[in-house]
Amino acid sequence: MIEISKFYIKQNLRLGFAPTMGCLHDGHLSLLEHLNRRCDARVASIFVNPKQFCPGEDFERYPRDEERDLKLLKKNCDYVFIPYEKEMYPKGFSTSVEVSGLSDTLCGKKRMGHFKGVTTVVARLFGIVRPTFAAFGQKDYQQFVIIKKMTQDLSFGIQLIMCPTVREKDGLAMSSRNMYLSSEERARALSLRKALLTAKKEIEIGQTKAENLKKTMLKVMNNLGAKAEYAEIVDTENLQTVDPIHGEVLLAVAAYVGKTRLIDNEILRCKEL
Ligand code: AMP
Repeated sequence: MIEISKFYIKQNLRLGFAPTMGCLHDGHLSLLEHLNRRCDARVASIFVNPKQFCPGEDFERYPRDEERDLKLLKKNCDYVFIPYEKEMYPKGFSTSVEVSGLSDTLCGKKRMGHFKGVTTVVARLFGIVRPTFAAFGQKDYQQFVIIKKMTQDLSFGIQLIMCPTVREKDGLAMSSRNMYLSSEERARALSLRKALLTAKKEIEIGQTKAENLKKTMLKVMNNLGAKAEYAEIVDTENLQTVDPIHGEVLLAVAAYVGKTRLIDNEILRCKEL
């Protein structure tokens, strides 16, 4: 991969990069589609990164289907980088990258060390692939903001693109983890989207109190068969709570449906105070 990157840099060509953990769906493919418009060639990586799974999470059983992924990528990108763990973290690897503050809110509160694992692997991947552009999904909005901050703070000189969340027909955000859901859980998983849309409607008719909106979202999720982990309304840049809501805000939810942890979000532009 490093030789390919060198070639593109030497030729002054733009390489686009989409890091993934595989088990690809249309959300992943949309990242490559967004890169296509801006780049001369596209790279996708597949690496289930052990460092971003917390103890007790699903690292071992995370869905993997390399053969199917490669078939999909054949039509949608130019290079696929599938490193071994030893290649990503060779013996003696002792560096970690952590973005403080932004990593401690929302999902970071419960998933201790998760974002440190993400920034460490993405920094390493950026160093190997050395892309001009890198694409990430809005579905993992907090991850995007953290990677953006890391990219700025460490002067990586990579342009980041945030791509809209791709959804199933009924509105469920696509996720590799949706594979875990039974058909009955699949129906309950819609509660995250319902919670966001209910809050959005309340905002449209004048509700500005974040506390009330949070309560609404938690209630919708719990009433529709999910076990809510959080519902938050935060500033889109610093991820701090905004109350009363104003300006551009992120409505973010996380909930368990059975044993599967799901997330979703919505960005809203509200009136200024
Ligand atoms: P993952 O394989 O889950 O680590 O995701 C790899 C990339 O795909 C991340 O940038 C995600 O935000 C993005 N992604 C995952 N699901 C979606 C989706 N439904 N829509 C858009 N992007 C997504």
